[in-house]
Parts: sequence; structure tokens; C-alpha cells
Amino acid sequence: MNKEIFLCAINNILSGICKEDCQFCTQSIRYHADIERYNYKSIDTIVQEAQQAKANGALGYCLVTAGKGLDDKKVEFVAKASKAIKKKVDNLNLIACNGTATVEQLRYLKESGIDSYNHNLETSEAYYKTICTTHAWSERYQTCLNVKEVGLQLCSGGIWGMGESDEDRDSLLDAIVSLQPESTPLNFYIPNPALPIKSRNISKNEALDIIKKAKKLLGNDRLLMVAGGRELIFAGAEQAMFEAGVNSIVIGDYLTTTGDTPLKDQTMLEHIGYKVATSCHG
Ligand code: SF4
Repeated sequence: MNKEIFLCAINNILSGICKEDCQFCTQSIRYHADIERYNYKSIDTIVQEAQQAKANGALGYCLVTAGKGLDDKKVEFVAKASKAIKKKVDNLNLIACNGTATVEQLRYLKESGIDSYNHNLETSEAYYKTICTTHAWSERYQTCLNVKEVGLQLCSGGIWGMGESDEDRDSLLDAIVSLQPESTPLNFYIPNPALPIKSRNISKNEALDIIKKAKKLLGNDRLLMVAGGRELIFAGAEQAMFEAGVNSIVIGDYLTTTGDTPLKDQTMLEHIGYKVATSCHG
């Protein structure tokens, strides 16, 4: 069994200012969720936070911007941040997560040092229409194809527990598998009173079944990550999560919710006999 766990950290470099109506997202301005909203962080801050993430054991570092997709200003900013991080921090797989993107925009990010692009399919194509009316699932899928076309690594997963059916869950997994992403984040919905989706319809055992299915379909040579919702679903049951097939977790805070501290996660991993991976190619 592979006892190494790959750590990834997220930096929300532009937060909470999005006009789309995704019913699961506190960053939509339509729902007035009580979150921190800010324009671009300074490049210096982003670099310092990348150095800290690396010191905490992260091998992947994800630069996230709120909003439907990339525009000229955003792509320039992410490229600038990427170049600045690459100058100061070695051996950090840089991931951009900036919504829908064209081939040209993705190529530019790749030339600027970005290694990977994260774009989640979120849920099944059929259920997506119920939870988002301002853009189509097909745009999301196309962005993932664009990522592959330019030769960036693809990181693509979704969110479970948003009221979807078992068929939706299977359909989402099949769609993810069809893209053959290098890395797949599984998120479990975190309810927020401001959001239209009021509760999470997934149990720990159902989540474990999804992990096992994903592992079987995606294979052992891919990263399978549990990201948002880990602390809510798997607190105290992390070993079961890893035994089911997870080999990567997010450390630190998520986009708009707080995670366990990196020290707590390192202690948890040691306690159950896993090591923090020190190389992406280990
Ligand atoms: S497009 Fe992205 S940031 Fe905007 S509401 Fe949807 S999920 Fe949130």
C-alpha cells in the first residue's frame, strides 16, 4: 500500500465577487453569504503564502479566483503571480483554478509556469441545470478538454451531497473518468444558511463508497484527493478514507471555510501511519 499522502494548499487570491448563481457557492454575490470578499491579493503576499505552504509540506499550490472564467486582466494577474512564485519557491506544482478558459488563455498560463489547471465538473450534466442557470455544464467540460489540449495537467472533480441522485453521482464519476485527469478532488458539500441548497445529502459510508468507486475507475497512478468537507465527514475516520483510496488532501483553509491546521493534519497522518509525500514523482 502506498503510505505517502500528497498535500495541496489553496490560495483564494480573488474572493467572493461572482455574479453567477451556483447554488452551492458562497462566493456568488446573489446569496449574501457572510464570507470575506476582496479584490486581488498583492503578489508579495501570494509568494509569502506559497513559501509558507511549501514549508507546511504542500507539493501542490492552487491559485484560485472567484468568477465564471478568465478574462484578460485575470489571466495577466495569474501569470504574474505564477512567475513570481516560480522565482522564489522550488518544487511546487502550481495549479491555476480560474473558471472557464480558452485554449489561448491556458497556453499563456502554461508558458508562465503554471503546471496544472483545476476545473471541476461539480455534478452531473443533468443535475447541473438545477443548481446553476447562468452557465452550462458543457462549458465546464470544454474547459477541461482545453486544458488537455494545451498539455497542462488536469485536476478535475466535483462536489457530492448537493441533493443529487445516485444516478447523478455515477454520471459525474463517469464524466470525470472520461477526461482522465491527473488529479481528482472530491468535495463534500458544506451547507451555509445563506445558500439555496440547505443541507448535505451524503453520509460517511456513501462518501467512502464514492471514493472506492473513483479509485477503481481512475486507477492507482492518479491523485485522488478529498478536499472541501473532509473535516465534517471524516474527522476521526481519516484512516478509512485513505484505505478507501484517497492519497491526497488539502491542508490549511479552503476557499471560504476553515480547515484543520497543517500541524494537526501532520499529527493525524503520523498517528495513523502515513507519511507526507516529499516529491510529486516519488
Ligand atoms: S462561477 Fe465559480 S465562483 Fe462563481 S458562483 Fe459559480 S462556483 Fe462560485
